[in-house]
Amino acid sequence: MPDRLRDRISDALALLNGARTLRCPFPTCTVRIRYRAITPAEAERLTVLAADHTRHGTKH
Ligand SMILES: [Zn+2]
Repeated sequence: MPDRLRDRISDALALLNGARTLRCPFPTCTVRIRYRAITPAEAERLTVLAADHTRHGTKH
């Protein structure tokens, strides 16, 4: 199964469970943060972290 398809299925299942997945906007970066049932403040913190590629520790 292609990785992307597997990712989509995984994300769909996560949504059904009430989870959310944040992805780095950088094309080659594989950083993802998945969360579920956290406070809005925590969600906001994780959203910022996911979007800030300089904090992901990759050279891509
Ligand atoms: Zn990144």
